[in-house]
Amino acid sequence: MRTRFAPSPTGPLHLGHAYSALLAYGMATKAGGEFCLRIEDIDQSRARPKWEAQIYDDLHWLGLEWPEPVMRQSDRMPAYQDALTKLEDMGLLYRCTCKRRDIEAAVSAPQEGVEPAYGPDGLIYPGTCRNAGHRDSNAALRLDMAKACDMLGNPVLEFSETGPAHKGTHRITTGDLIHRVGDIVLARRDMGTSYHLSVVLDDAVQGMTDVIRGKDLFQATKIHVLLQRLLGLPTPTYHHHRLIRDEAGKRLAKRDDARAIAKYRDDGASPADIRKMLALPRT
Ligand code: GLU
Repeated sequence: MRTRFAPSPTGPLHLGHAYSALLAYGMATKAGGEFCLRIEDIDQSRARPKWEAQIYDDLHWLGLEWPEPVMRQSDRMPAYQDALTKLEDMGLLYRCTCKRRDIEAAVSAPQEGVEPAYGPDGLIYPGTCRNAGHRDSNAALRLDMAKACDMLGNPVLEFSETGPAHKGTHRITTGDLIHRVGDIVLARRDMGTSYHLSVVLDDAVQGMTDVIRGKDLFQATKIHVLLQRLLGLPTPTYHHHRLIRDEAGKRLAKRDDARAIAKYRDDGASPADIRKMLALPRT
């Protein structure tokens, strides 16, 4: 078994991150497998060396170990570019020049009373640029979902989930992908890649057998399984865990500094206290 924790160095790790990392570490070590750390820093406008250094500190303090060198997504741009070229050669990508407000305007135009639909990536793209033939090299690259689904020789896409909320085998239909996911961005204009593309390629190259992460990413898994199929990559087993919430039931975010691991540590908590707060078994 190989598992990973893949934080973005855009703020302090909080209790929710500790839960994810400890769970992934615990599952790998219990099975005699390996736990890896990966730094997801494709958003260079938000990533900071200071937060990356704190990730290492916090995780070491929690008692985690991982093989070095740590994979950093910003070092993997050529691999992401190769995959985009492959998808482009398959005729599955198109350039999109829409700004967020263009998409909002397009979907909020009265359409027989239909409510704008949201997918795992926000508003479902209305297809404005699909046949526009843009050549702008600075445009975003979108996946033509209907074409991608057409291309799947065997349209049965499925994945196994071991997380408590969704345990079992999940089938993904092409109708679901076309109508509930839509033409997602695979390369953002400012980044040359996207979370979805990078995570799929990295999990494959690092040989992940089990992807353990928060259940906010459960719906995005359809996208990941589709990309694995298109790119000829294996599908790991997924485990989406509960989200850690504050007293008001709100999901923790990076800005919740009050629940930062470093803050608990500075206040004198021990790693065992953190495990207890998260209802994780003692080691
Ligand atoms: N980098 C992502 C995050 O911090 C994790 C993605 C994943 O585990 O697939 O939310």
